[in-house]
Amino acid sequence: MTSAARATDWQLLQRLIPYLRPYRWALLGSGLLLVPLAAAAALQPIIIGQAIAFLKQEESTYAFLKPLSFTQGIDLLSMALLVTVILRFTLQAAQGYWIQKIGQQITADIRHDLFDHVLRLSSRFFDRTPVGKLITRLTSDVDALGDVFATGAVGVISDVFSMVVVILTMFLIDHTLATLLLALVLPITALIIYFQNRYRLANYKSREELSLLNANLQENITGIGVVQLFRREAFNSDLFRRRNQRYIREVDRTIFYDSAVSATLEWIAFVAIAGVLWLGGALVEQRTIDFGTLATFILFSQRVFDPLRQLAEKFTTVQAGLTAIERINDLLSEPIEIQDPDPRGVRAPIRRDNPYAVEFRNVWLAYKEEDYILRGVSFQIGAGEKVAIVGPTGAGKSSIIRLLCRLYEPSRGEVLIDGRNVREFSQADLRQHIGVILQDSFLFSGDVKSNIALGDAYPLDQIQRVAAEMNIAEFIEQLPAGYDTLLRQRGTNLSAGQRQLLAFARVAIRNPQILVLDEATANLDVGTEVMIQAALNRLLVNRTAIIIAHRLATIRHVDRIFVLKRGKLVEQGTHTELLDRNGVYANLYRLQALSEITEDTAGRTAL
Ligand code: ADP
Repeated sequence: MTSAARATDWQLLQRLIPYLRPYRWALLGSGLLLVPLAAAAALQPIIIGQAIAFLKQEESTYAFLKPLSFTQGIDLLSMALLVTVILRFTLQAAQGYWIQKIGQQITADIRHDLFDHVLRLSSRFFDRTPVGKLITRLTSDVDALGDVFATGAVGVISDVFSMVVVILTMFLIDHTLATLLLALVLPITALIIYFQNRYRLANYKSREELSLLNANLQENITGIGVVQLFRREAFNSDLFRRRNQRYIREVDRTIFYDSAVSATLEWIAFVAIAGVLWLGGALVEQRTIDFGTLATFILFSQRVFDPLRQLAEKFTTVQAGLTAIERINDLLSEPIEIQDPDPRGVRAPIRRDNPYAVEFRNVWLAYKEEDYILRGVSFQIGAGEKVAIVGPTGAGKSSIIRLLCRLYEPSRGEVLIDGRNVREFSQADLRQHIGVILQDSFLFSGDVKSNIALGDAYPLDQIQRVAAEMNIAEFIEQLPAGYDTLLRQRGTNLSAGQRQLLAFARVAIRNPQILVLDEATANLDVGTEVMIQAALNRLLVNRTAIIIAHRLATIRHVDRIFVLKRGKLVEQGTHTELLDRNGVYANLYRLQALSEITEDTAGRTAL
């Protein structure tokens, strides 16, 4: 179980306090309404009791009623009853509306904070958390909390308050009967608390199962291509069925405890009335109390258990709400591993147009404990130098890039940019200095220009200029709405080459000092390849560049080539130097050259 699951309800509720603060006056206002509400609830049985006492001319009739005529007395009491009824209904409605409104606002605030927090979490967190789980927390868990307000479950506070007022009033009127009712209330409350705890545990488990179910769903939808190509439908469907079954089993358990509470309360309310009748009847016979008081107490016994019953009805929602806070709290307490430096200690970023140098000093990196992917990597890249990193798949090339951009922190060693540790930059500055072009550039749903600007306010003419430099302007202008054309989700209406050029434009407009490029492996047609190469050459001017190269033929011109093998830098030098060395690079190069020739011949034979 998670650490937060052990947090007491009180600690959980404390997490809500900062969210309540902005609404404190409104909350106080609706809290004050509790007083007249509870008073009206306690008064009604007394008024009815008095009506009976008045009719029977009993001793307990209030002195001011005694001299009144029959009609006068009844009219007065009916009017009083009517006033309490109207008061209760209007105040209850006003309070309900008020609380729900504030509640929805608070829920929205929490949802937003959660979203912001998730966006700041490190890549390591996303490595170990399935997307479906996160979505569940952001949607249905937050909704469960919203339900607490929407279904008026916060009225529990008002229920408990009126219960206390009713009990106190009872003691003022008659000790014996009040004690009897209290004696019934206490064990029942204990029983409710017991069921409540059981329900809570079951509910937490069912939410966990729902998370897993959603994670599974998300995985299948994202990977639908693979699911269908490898005919995994039946297998996955079976997996889903079992998960679904497990979820339902946990939900069943919550239903059981929920019903148990309702049933107990239903039963106890009748026991209470019977108890009052039995004891009250005896007291009437002994003339200790009269009929009016007995009637008042029969109504009181209802009034005492009514809030408890209400509580039971709202119980599910309240408990689900607490579980939701628990799970939201889990996520909100997830530490942000990659923090900006203390702003007081940082020199103001100096935006210079000259390229920056890059240095790795004895860098080690493990994604999982002690399983080192990079092992003591050291190198220096001069300002403006173009370097290519080559090596077999899994050698750690992308990991070097991730460290440079500080998506991960090195386990040991230092990463420096322009002579300063990357940790000394704010993340926003760092990402301003480094422009990254990945193989699969993620395109957001939106139009072409916003996919280049990515939320920054660049004027259209600047976007157009950059697009022209990156050889994509012509293509964009041919689109139905030019720069305003909507891209389909993930850019499925663009070719791989066009996506690549769009990614270039995205980086070019930001004018970073360092360029990082994960060279696409896709085989592009010759025309596109020439366009990409020309755009790239323009992009490289006056920038330090690190290129992860997959095809060695494309990097002959770079200043230096780093050869990475199993997390170690094994060779470095220019293309010719490395060929002369006749080591790993020379081998890789010959192998690739050979396979390209074979492919070529095979292609031609096929023709
Ligand atoms: P390359 O880019 O050279 O193919 P990577 O730097 O992507 O290599 O990966 C190096 C090794 O690190 C691989 O064996 C890969 O399995 C592992 N690895 C990469 N990313 C992660 C991650 N997020 N969590 C755990 N292991 C990872």
